Amino acid sequence: MAFELPKLAYAYEALEPHVDARTMEIHHTKHHQAYVTNLNNAIAGTDAEKLSIEDICKNISKYPVAVRNNGGGHYNHSLFWTIMAPNAGGEPTGDLAAAINAAFGSFAEFKTQFAAAAATRFGSGWAWLLIKDGKLAVSSTPNQDNPLMDVADVKGTPILGIDVWEHAYYLNYQNRRPDYVAAFWNVINWNQVAANFAAAK
Ligand code: MN
Repeated sequence: MAFELPKLAYAYEALEPHVDARTMEIHHTKHHQAYVTNLNNAIAGTDAEKLSIEDICKNISKYPVAVRNNGGGHYNHSLFWTIMAPNAGGEPTGDLAAAINAAFGSFAEFKTQFAAAAATRFGSGWAWLLIKDGKLAVSSTPNQDNPLMDVADVKGTPILGIDVWEHAYYLNYQNRRPDYVAAFWNVINWNQVAANFAAAK
């Protein structure tokens, strides 16, 4: 079974003005599609064709670099589309809010640490909120790596991630990555992040 580009649950313009429609369309139909196509080419005829993308990531050190880059790209973007939504943002509630307070002291302090991880990731990569040893943590990874990967510095299950490759924000924000990160809080789908948290715990 070849991997496929997932459909978005909202229109490309639905996240405006925070993420513009042209960026969303290119990001989904060109960048993510390329990761899917190149992943399928990289695993064609191998046992990896029978595995989930999560299981491939967990043993990524055993695969060629094309699988690491494109498999990571497919997993990361598939998560990314779902943790954004129109009319979203605000603050998490319930168990997730309690876990954020327990791990970081407050939601404001979590935001500070997450934004710093996104801002200081040099070059291309991602910042994450993940579950590590049963507790929430913030990390960042280079390129298309992610916390599921056995090569990650901080390993765990990601429940929220922000793409800080320039292709994710350059049309609207140019070099102003911190402005893009600040706008991202307005589109976070906390219901989905809470569902990810519940599933991963
Ligand atoms: Mn991207």
